[in-house]
Amino acid sequence: MNVNDVEISWSVLKNSGYTRTSELGQADVILMMTCSIRDGAEQKIWRKLNILKQYKKKRQRNSENLPPLKIGILGCMAERLKSKILEQEKMVDLVCGPDAYKDLPRMLAVTESGQTAVNVLLSLDETYADVMPVRLNENSPSAFVSIMRGCDNMCSYCIVPFTRGRERNEVRMLSDQGIKEVTLLGQNVNSYRDTSDSTIHNSIDTKLTPGFKTVYKPKTGGRRFSDLLDKVSQIDPEMRIRFTSPHPKDFPDEVLDLIKERSNICNQIHLPAQSGNSEVLQRMRRGYTREAYLDLVYHIRHRIPDVYLSSDFIAGFCEETELEHEDTVSLMKEVKYHVVYSFPYSMRQKTSAYHRLKDNVPDDVKSRRHLQLRDLFRQEALKLNLKEIGSTQLILIEGESKRSPLDMAGRNDGNVKVIVPNTNIPESCADISTRKIQRGDYVVVKIRSANSQVLHGIPLYHTSLTEFYNKDNLITEQLCQSSAL
Ligand code: SAH
Ligand code: SF4
Repeated sequence: MNVNDVEISWSVLKNSGYTRTSELGQADVILMMTCSIRDGAEQKIWRKLNILKQYKKKRQRNSENLPPLKIGILGCMAERLKSKILEQEKMVDLVCGPDAYKDLPRMLAVTESGQTAVNVLLSLDETYADVMPVRLNENSPSAFVSIMRGCDNMCSYCIVPFTRGRERNEVRMLSDQGIKEVTLLGQNVNSYRDTSDSTIHNSIDTKLTPGFKTVYKPKTGGRRFSDLLDKVSQIDPEMRIRFTSPHPKDFPDEVLDLIKERSNICNQIHLPAQSGNSEVLQRMRRGYTREAYLDLVYHIRHRIPDVYLSSDFIAGFCEETELEHEDTVSLMKEVKYHVVYSFPYSMRQKTSAYHRLKDNVPDDVKSRRHLQLRDLFRQEALKLNLKEIGSTQLILIEGESKRSPLDMAGRNDGNVKVIVPNTNIPESCADISTRKIQRGDYVVVKIRSANSQVLHGIPLYHTSLTEFYNKDNLITEQLCQSSAL
């Protein structure tokens, strides 16, 4: 989401004549996109500001004929702390919240005269639908598309509804030549509803997943997330579609069936559980119990047997006992996730947990529980990845491997990283002419080894997404795969 916000802000600035540099020494303006989700994210920014403060002073001393350096804070930390940032850090010239990026050129003009500029107004309708984000990494085959901003859920620990405001929808179709993968973004993408098009009269209203409830009335009418997914996946059958982050409350069968049926919608679902204990989930106001969550997992696995699941967990939430934590451990063992993000709980002002609950799990206990969840995830992911050895998978190549220029790195359908040697391989299954593997290529890979994070394989031949999943090609493909080995 923050990468996408940088792309939006950068587009606004570019249109008013600013140019971007990656050299600190060349910059007259430094803007930092910030996150407030946990205190640690904010501490990083304070440390960075401290370093920039020294740099700003030095630049003023050494080069009198250069314009004074301007420093700006953008995003959620700007929204949360507003002008308090200026009080705490006198070197900051500009504070701009997530709904005010279009105001950046005016704010920078204000700072020219030596004043500070603050715009932290939250909006109910700013979607930046008219701003075409400028992609930061033009060579990457993947892109992000925000389909909604803000959040209405009000989980008791979470600051997002306060820093990013309430939910708004936004559709921006991106079928750029060359883009092979699009990730639809939002805080609960699957609660998406677009009622702006009055020609769509949808009589099917949102049915929450059984056993799930919300603090707000589910939206009705208009285009649903499944309609959007259906339309977006038809734009280009060669373009992989992912979406994040969904909320477990909105997984109707229409969405699951689309994932199963459309080969370009990845078989991967992020299903943030947060905890495996029903009492903790209630204190978190997640709107579901352990049992309802597990029922959903079994339902999803029944409908899409080869689905890759990932999740988020918070360790040491208010009043979490050792037994409650053990329930999270057992849930993780039961579900078996390919990827888990776990976070030690960080109390945030304004949230309902801040007002009503006690952040009484000591830091060392939070950290121990968090590490236990991380280690358990690694053990389970290793088992899942080892099972993939011997399989033949479709990989979208993202570029050179960070570890070695002799290798290329890509991702499989489940978003797991796959490393292959960069050799010449046949143009297609039935071809003898060969060419090198490049960024943006779809390659058929035989998996040879695995650890908890990465798979390693042998590239067999180039292909396309449609060709790989075309059932009529199956027999030829199988012959190819065995002869290529
Ligand atoms: N909208 C998404 C995720 C938003 S934030 C969702 O509901 O899944 C990403 C993750 O940060 C959350 O899933 C949660 O696990 C974690 N998180 C949010 N607030 C937190 C807090 N106060 N302390 C620790 N982790 C937190
Ligand atoms: Fe935060 Fe909950 Fe909204 Fe996710 S769904 S952004 S955790 S309030």
